[in-house]
Amino acid sequence: MTDPALVTGVRRAIAALATVAVLALAGVAAIWSVRPPAAHDAGPTGFSARRAFQQVEAIATRPHPVGSAAQGEVHDHLVSVLRGLGLSPEVQDTVSVEGGALSSSAGGIGLAHVRNVVTVVPGTASTGRIFLVAHTDSVQTGPGANDDAAGVSSILEIARALTSGPRLRNDVVLVLTDGEEACLCGAKAFVDQNPLAKDGGIVVNLEARGSSGPAIMFETATDNRALIDVYAHAPHPVGTSFAVEIYRLLPNDTDFTAFREAGFTGLNSAYIDGAAVYHAPTDLPSSMDLDSLQHHGDNALAVTRDLGGRDLSTLKSSDDATYFPAPGLLVRYPGELVGPLAGLALIAVIAFGWLARRRGLTTGRKLAGGFAITLVPIVVAPVLAQVFWLVLKLIRPEYGAMPIDPYRPQWYRLGVLALTAAVLFAWYAWSHRIRRAGPVALAVAGLGWLAVLGIALATAMPGGSYLGAVPALTGAVAGIVALLTRGWWSALAIAAGGAVAVIVLLPTVIMLFPALGMPMAGVGAFLAVLLGLALLPVIELLHPIAAGQRGLAALSAVRRGAVPALAALLATVVCAAVGLSVDRFDAAHPSLTHLMYALDADNNTAQWLSKEPKVQHWTSQYVSGNPRQVNATLPAFGPEEMRTGTAQPADLPAPKLTLESDTRSGDSRVLKLRLQPQRPVRFATLHVAAGVTVTAATIGGREVSPTVKPDGPWGFGFVFHGPPADGIEVTLTVKTTGPVKFRAMDGSDGLTTLPGFHPRPAGVGILGSHSSELLAVAKTYTL
Ligand SMILES: [Zn+2]
Repeated sequence: MTDPALVTGVRRAIAALATVAVLALAGVAAIWSVRPPAAHDAGPTGFSARRAFQQVEAIATRPHPVGSAAQGEVHDHLVSVLRGLGLSPEVQDTVSVEGGALSSSAGGIGLAHVRNVVTVVPGTASTGRIFLVAHTDSVQTGPGANDDAAGVSSILEIARALTSGPRLRNDVVLVLTDGEEACLCGAKAFVDQNPLAKDGGIVVNLEARGSSGPAIMFETATDNRALIDVYAHAPHPVGTSFAVEIYRLLPNDTDFTAFREAGFTGLNSAYIDGAAVYHAPTDLPSSMDLDSLQHHGDNALAVTRDLGGRDLSTLKSSDDATYFPAPGLLVRYPGELVGPLAGLALIAVIAFGWLARRRGLTTGRKLAGGFAITLVPIVVAPVLAQVFWLVLKLIRPEYGAMPIDPYRPQWYRLGVLALTAAVLFAWYAWSHRIRRAGPVALAVAGLGWLAVLGIALATAMPGGSYLGAVPALTGAVAGIVALLTRGWWSALAIAAGGAVAVIVLLPTVIMLFPALGMPMAGVGAFLAVLLGLALLPVIELLHPIAAGQRGLAALSAVRRGAVPALAALLATVVCAAVGLSVDRFDAAHPSLTHLMYALDADNNTAQWLSKEPKVQHWTSQYVSGNPRQVNATLPAFGPEEMRTGTAQPADLPAPKLTLESDTRSGDSRVLKLRLQPQRPVRFATLHVAAGVTVTAATIGGREVSPTVKPDGPWGFGFVFHGPPADGIEVTLTVKTTGPVKFRAMDGSDGLTTLPGFHPRPAGVGILGSHSSELLAVAKTYTL
């Protein structure tokens, strides 16, 4: 005699195990789909990360910002390498204004004296131009091995591969820009002034904002469908149209901005994990994951060869594609399908709910109630993920100064995922026992929220709509099949629906954590909850909580229901503990501090300044009190608030401002000025008193728009990077006949020789930023 309940139980257990196996396979495949390829030695026409890395080591020996002597050496090296390949590089040596609306331009218009290294790899019968772009300059605080010696070295290795193989049909222009970190000035100089740019073309820009992870294609120009098709045929395409949408919300810019705004089309790629080294002294060649470099190069070389062989005049499209990675391919469909697909997903979920109700598996009331209570994990998990990071910051206050991520965030990311699972399990048990919503109503409700998200994003961020619409559609279809069939077919449908959700959502979760960092872990938790909701039928297979039990049976069911939630919560605590013990600060992974020094030559006083959101122990010996604006005496710093402290005045000369000619006509004066730093500096700035209207301005031979953002007591101003030794020529037309007050400032890098400076102990490092270790000297002139 066989017990029918036992048979059902055994069958159910086998079905559950099989489903878990399918989902685990899908998970591994999804993780694999966004992993960089292993670095390898390629043949003469292939891309070798090892060969490219030799160039990284040659370029990233020390910080080399625009205008520095070190940057001059980098230029010489690049020219000689390109000549060695039989190419004829030219140096575009010019002054340019900033490209794109950068946040660093808060204190005035950005300009730089730049030197772009530009080379054409000529095609046999060119139908258009392909531009390979990376920036040769680093920030002043780090050697820039990843940002962007990786991009430059990749282009050198691609040039080597292209010149070793058969010639392409189309011209490939290598644009190694200068002054990206300062103001995107090199890219702007190229698009505005270089004859090679006048017909536009397709840009492949290579960047890094970290030291590891896949090279993600995260930005395109609009109407990208045809180019996405090309990119999809690269050997390891990793990109999502959702990243394009997210990137537009972030206050970041790259050279690509200058090209895009000038009407170029193209693709922008970067690897972004390991972001603790970003712009920091630790952005060393040794920090680089060679697999990321291989990924950069493999894809860029393949895309260049593909585009290089086409008739570029036919490569046109009039819409944006939706695309996302799946194992072995880049899924993509035209933008015009986004709306219909989102609508179809909603209809499918409604049909699923209708069928379930018709079959007596749920009721309208349960469906409505289920939809309402499913909002609980969607809200709670992201909030708790943010709390999780707040708690970690309480335990380790130095995390507050890390701009994007800690050095080793992996355990914390797993902790966020475990916490999300704990929320989902607890909510699921509660919904069942206390609310008696029933598994079918909850499955429909979970998919319902995915469908709603798909609809909402279709209008607000079409590139992200697939995240809700695709799993909702496949999940609902799978649900309908599961209801219409029995036994194994039903389990297979549930497994297939879950696998699609894993393949669509998991890569985006994985890419989103490094993209936004732990300070915005809630966004990753949000997407993880959506994945969990799509998998509710699987959770039900795993631990069925029979409804309708009473008394002791019910109590034990509640206990059993709580087990997965408690296990996930324990996993969260373990992940946090392991993370805290693994990710300690040491000499190679220092905490990050921010300090600047400013000397006011008007009264020979000096101050320390810091932008740290919460002042750290080392920094507290220099600054204290509440943050305040400093733009009354330091207009180039813009309206940003900083903490300050009194410093000993150093014996440093102020920049000299001289009036070379003064022409009066009517109510205006035309002032020809020379701004000349009296010491080696990285940049010089000049600001005019706020009450004085500037109607025309020419700086370093370049005419600039005299518009100003109102900012404290100072009006029109500029920041000039890499000023020539004989100073910057400035011609201003001002609407006044009286004297005009000016504030001149210059900035160099390094505080170690200043009186009163105490070197950082081991384990305390320098924050990668555009103003860390800045030494500024300012003086007022009335002319
Ligand atoms: Zn960069």
